[in-house]
Amino acid sequence: MKSKNKCVICGKDLKKDWIALHKKLLDMNATEFQCIDCLADTLCCEVDDLEIKIEEFKEEGCILFK
Ligand SMILES: [Zn+2]
Repeated sequence: MKSKNKCVICGKDLKKDWIALHKKLLDMNATEFQCIDCLADTLCCEVDDLEIKIEEFKEEGCILFK
């Protein structure tokens, strides 16, 4: 059985922010999530870019990141 709190690709434990980011960028109704490293691969961008995005969404007051 897959845990909701592990990355679906590499099995790493997920942070709350990563789950929120996955929902925001990929699928609002997702039930499986990726860690920030795998998400960067999926989106063909850098982990640093995603960390900046997380901060931006927090500053915007996005409810997913509360
Ligand atoms: Zn992963």
